Amino acid sequence: MRVIAEKAQVLITVKTSPQPSTKYKDTVCTAGVRLDDDSPRWICLYPIPFRHLETDLQFKKYDLIELEIRRRHEDSRKESYSPDWSSVRRVDHFDPWERRVDALRNLPLTNTCELSAAARADHAAPSLGLGGVADLTGLTFERHPGWNEKQRAILSRALEEVDLFGSGLTPRKLEPPRLVVTYRYRCTGPTCSGHRGQILDWELTALQQRLRSVTDSELKRVIETKFVDEMFASGRDSHFLMGNFENPVKRDKFSVLGVWYPRQSDVEALPLF
Ligand SMILES: [Zn+2]
Repeated sequence: MRVIAEKAQVLITVKTSPQPSTKYKDTVCTAGVRLDDDSPRWICLYPIPFRHLETDLQFKKYDLIELEIRRRHEDSRKESYSPDWSSVRRVDHFDPWERRVDALRNLPLTNTCELSAAARADHAAPSLGLGGVADLTGLTFERHPGWNEKQRAILSRALEEVDLFGSGLTPRKLEPPRLVVTYRYRCTGPTCSGHRGQILDWELTALQQRLRSVTDSELKRVIETKFVDEMFASGRDSHFLMGNFENPVKRDKFSVLGVWYPRQSDVEALPLF
């Protein structure tokens, strides 16, 4: 099948940490919202060269980028596209929150129960969504078991690919983060009995890299301050940016790719149509 390239404008909302897997290429995904259409819709850009993780040279969260994309037909998730990274052009950065809220205002809100049920019924059901949180119980911390041999092989291949781009950058070897962190919460589904959502946000990995030398308890405290106290502060209208995996067996398992936490006042300031 000939796959036609199209031009897209994407507001980047998600950058995830690598989850190396041999069969499914769920190493890392950058997701956002297409703003070049009549109404905004979710898009997941894959694969991402690792240099995009190690540097913010080309774009960061809430940048508006313009690029060429092709539908990934091997992936039944309809949001999944292959980007042509050489075509990326940064056209804007959306700051403050007010602009971001305005850009996403027409996206439907959902929740984890609803996303999982839809994915169980249909593999092509939404793979990304802005999910409501009714009750945040807290965080669970576990030691990262470290990359296994297969994962290490995938990562070193990925780093070789970086060299092929001739970027002149030598990314550091990608070490696994010290801790795996999971949100425990109830979503806004009316019959929700609770979920655990692993945080795949690249920000969490970057934070752990910066704090390599602190003790476990200090590290946990900083993570809690950022991912609970700040992101779910009172006066914030916080939601999870949810996403699932390419692996069809895991399609109904949604992780937390990031947190959307505009101020309540920014949401209320929007003019009503
Ligand atoms: Zn639920």
